[in-house]
Amino acid sequence: MSTRVLVASHNAKKLAELQRILDAALGGTAVELVDLGAVPEYPEVPETGLTFAENALLKAREGYRRTGLPTVADDSGLAVDALSGMPGVFSARWSGRRGDDRAAIDGANLDLVLAQIADLPDEHRGAAFVCAAALVGPGGREHLVEGRQPGRLLRAPRGTGGFGYDPIFVADGLDRTNAELTPAEKDAISHRGKAFRVLAKVIAKEFKLAP
Ligand code: IMP
Repeated sequence: MSTRVLVASHNAKKLAELQRILDAALGGTAVELVDLGAVPEYPEVPETGLTFAENALLKAREGYRRTGLPTVADDSGLAVDALSGMPGVFSARWSGRRGDDRAAIDGANLDLVLAQIADLPDEHRGAAFVCAAALVGPGGREHLVEGRQPGRLLRAPRGTGGFGYDPIFVADGLDRTNAELTPAEKDAISHRGKAFRVLAKVIAKEFKLAP
């Protein structure tokens, strides 16, 4: 029997990434992740927090409250040093653009960040991707972990992989942008990969699973 855990997200890629990490850490069938499509529909909880951690917890608590299932949720974004950590929790909607065209929205967000820091010299272009992941487990017990990918921002986009701000972000120690990495290369060093690997250990402990 595997443990069922809700991932409070409609993003199938996130669920698949966490499932891959859990399978590698705990063996194939220990945890079965299900997404919001697998539970009775409930209204999306507004992301009213000022930090990634607050928003991840809000979503995980709501999933647990609505379904009774242990629930994982994450929140992530880009923190630019020169913008005092912004776009931060506003990363997905930084340019104010709305709608369903994710590629157009991502492009507008990225262009705005580039314009905002256009005058900055290389030494002031530091940034990090940050991911907070929360688990609300049996009895409402709460766990929170965080992963960071430190790096710097280029002056123009490069590469076609990834999403969001990936084409302008180069991780510390690399010279390729996140959008020029293979998915496996990105998973190995990304904020989400790091947070999910720590979360896998938390899940193993919470549900007393090997190892
Ligand atoms: P969410 O946590 O998936 O909602 O991500 C919020 C926003 O942060 C996304 O819309 C992207 O703009 C940005 N973001 C989060 N993770 C990444 C990443 O791995 N690469 C590029 N952008 C990201």
